Amino acid sequence: MVKEYVRPKDAAEAVALMEQALAKRAATSGGAATIGGAATIGGAATIGGAATIGGAATIGGAATIGGAATIGGAAWLAGGTALLSTASPSVAGNRTAADFPELLIDVGRILPRGLNQTAAGLVIGAGTTFQEVLESPLAFSALQASARSMANRNIRNRATVGGNLAFNKSCASLVPLCLALDAAVECAGGGPANQTLPLAKWLIKPAGLLLNLILPAGGGRSAAFARSSRTACDVSTATVAAVATVKGRRLLELCLVVGGFSLHALRRLDIEALFDGRDLDDLAATEAAIRPLLSAIDDQRGSSAFKRQQGAALVADCLQALLSAEVLP
Ligand SMILES: Cc1cc2nc3c(=O)[nH]c(=O)nc-3n(C[C@H](O)[C@H](O)[C@H](O)COP(=O)(O)OP(=O)(O)OC[C@H]3O[C@@H](n4cnc5c(N)ncnc54)[C@H](O)[C@@H]3O)c2cc1C
Repeated sequence: MVKEYVRPKDAAEAVALMEQALAKRAATSGGAATIGGAATIGGAATIGGAATIGGAATIGGAATIGGAATIGGAAWLAGGTALLSTASPSVAGNRTAADFPELLIDVGRILPRGLNQTAAGLVIGAGTTFQEVLESPLAFSALQASARSMANRNIRNRATVGGNLAFNKSCASLVPLCLALDAAVECAGGGPANQTLPLAKWLIKPAGLLLNLILPAGGGRSAAFARSSRTACDVSTATVAAVATVKGRRLLELCLVVGGFSLHALRRLDIEALFDGRDLDDLAATEAAIRPLLSAIDDQRGSSAFKRQQGAALVADCLQALLSAEVLP
């Protein structure tokens, strides 16, 4: 149960508060504590079986559950759209009060905010809302599409970029495109001061307070994003981001990240291998080639068979869209 809410004046104070909370927790529980994302939602969750498909830039093997892992101790609070809804007993199933964060460190007003084009690429402050991303003239089409895919305007007005990356749900709106573009993050705490590291690496072991997301220059590549859901405002059933250099119908150096078929969105080297360096076939043939490679669990969003069918169509659509997609600056 939340017992305390604090609003630090800057990132340094926020990190210090988190360090104190984790040290206190470690002292009382006798366990080791990590700074920041405090990835301890009942221990590390592993991504197993088919879900480990991916390469160096992907999440493979053991992974922790994003920022949500702060449950039980202290948590950063940004827009609150994920944290406060999952921390509500009404939606939290059989969790007990002890499972919820006791300390909320409100970072919503101290995080960098806005988009800036720099020599390192497009830098997006972790406190930037999805609506701000969508409305920015610096946002390229695929980035706009992924921002627009976030539920509805009410949620977009509060949900932040940092919160989306840290929450890292299977169908997160922004994560697939960021992984496909080989994004980096800058964070405070949890390591060397204000370190920059690949997002893929940070997602494996989230630590510290995310300050900025850095999308590197496109270098003549194109990018496309696609999402499916049961209804417009529902959570996604699948998300796909594809990045490649396009020559006619040929996709070169294809990077494909798919969400909805594993615990977190994953780079799919197996699907990339079907299409990279080749001319893209028609939609039906593309879809048929992808279908056997997708597997999903049955849940309230659909049966495994339905999700495979729909997912294959979505990935095929995304690859087709790549042929005429905007070339990134
Ligand atoms: C009705 C509804 C619809 C939704 N639809 C979608 C959707 O379509 N697509 C989608 O992707 N998500 C969706 N979500 C989930 C959620 O809103 C998003 O993931 C959102 O981006 C979270 O951002 P936030 O700022 O609200 O994060 P918060 O709720 O404040 O925090 C989420 C987690 O991230 C951590 N965190 C926040 N900021 C940082 C930071 N700077 N550094 C490190 N950790 C941090 C927090 O400690 C927490 O664990 C939906 C949620 C709701 C309630």
